[in-house]
Amino acid sequence: MPERPYVSFAEVKQRISIPDVLTALGLADRFTGKKETLTGVCPLPGHQHGPSPNSEQFKINQRDGLWLWHCFGDCQRGGDVIELVKAMTGFDNSHVRFWFAEHFPDRLTLQQPHRKGTQTSETSEAPTKEKAPANPGKEITQEPSAIAAKKTISNDSSPLKPLRFILNLNPDVPYLFERGLKPDTIRRFGIGLCRKGLLAGYVAIPVYDYPRSGTNPVGYLGRWPGEPAASHRDETGPLRYKFPESFPRNRVVYGLAEALDGTEGQPLIVVEGPFKVYHLFQSGFPNTGATFGASVSDEQVEILVATRRPLILMFDGDDAGQTGMRSAAERLISRASVRVVKLEPGQHPDDLSHSELEKVLS
Ligand SMILES: [Zn+2]
Repeated sequence: MPERPYVSFAEVKQRISIPDVLTALGLADRFTGKKETLTGVCPLPGHQHGPSPNSEQFKINQRDGLWLWHCFGDCQRGGDVIELVKAMTGFDNSHVRFWFAEHFPDRLTLQQPHRKGTQTSETSEAPTKEKAPANPGKEITQEPSAIAAKKTISNDSSPLKPLRFILNLNPDVPYLFERGLKPDTIRRFGIGLCRKGLLAGYVAIPVYDYPRSGTNPVGYLGRWPGEPAASHRDETGPLRYKFPESFPRNRVVYGLAEALDGTEGQPLIVVEGPFKVYHLFQSGFPNTGATFGASVSDEQVEILVATRRPLILMFDGDDAGQTGMRSAAERLISRASVRVVKLEPGQHPDDLSHSELEKVLS
């Protein structure tokens, strides 16, 4: 069998847009919109459509040079151009490389396949079973609220495993104090600067499952302390958030153990990200957890229902936040007491003072 040409995923993400892929898949005419923002009915094969499919449910846009898609309907999946081809075709990484090589031979550098081992240095945005879980691999580089939550591996129902290591983190980080975090908060959530390894230079945020299946976290999320030095185009530079590949983003609710501890009888407030949890905690609302973005996975819905607490959703006052909050509320409403707090456009939970929070949350 002739060897299949190898293309770099980094190059694919840079040179091939989602509209290019839709054209190659024969789907281009199913989407409408302006040049860099398209919407339509979700084309994913697994999507269960009702009698009148919603033509707003599947959104495509370009941010900082990176094309992203997300289904806000049934599948709640999303990702980059590579994830789209994977989701549409069911191909694994090596077949997806071949697919791009075949469809865009003039726009990509076709190389001889690398020997085994060299290819694992990069990947598309979602982990796949091809990779050993022991290899934390590459990061996902979007602001959590900017990118779709996705089912990491849609058919993965295996229990979460705690990491076999813990990171030694330095809690004394000027960046955290500049962001208004108090030493108490830093201690409570165990965050700090990571010096070595994949998250070197990042503030690492340990993330636990609930109830905990072990003493170690199930993952660490990295936050670059300060403005990212590189744009998203430069994949080698630091990015605002770094999600190691094996990070179980859609299988945990951040800060849940802390949120439920000692707050019996109180509702659980749900926000989009860890720093909002910290702000709420410091404002007198320790009963707050986060979903790692506006898009709440079905697994996160199950986790929230299982707390048996009344739920108050308070997502960011932007389109992604409000759409994600509505979708989560729709799935929660029959199973829990749910209230949504609608913030003004552009407003985030961490912009609100203690008294403003009291007002909207009471
Ligand atoms: Zn869908």
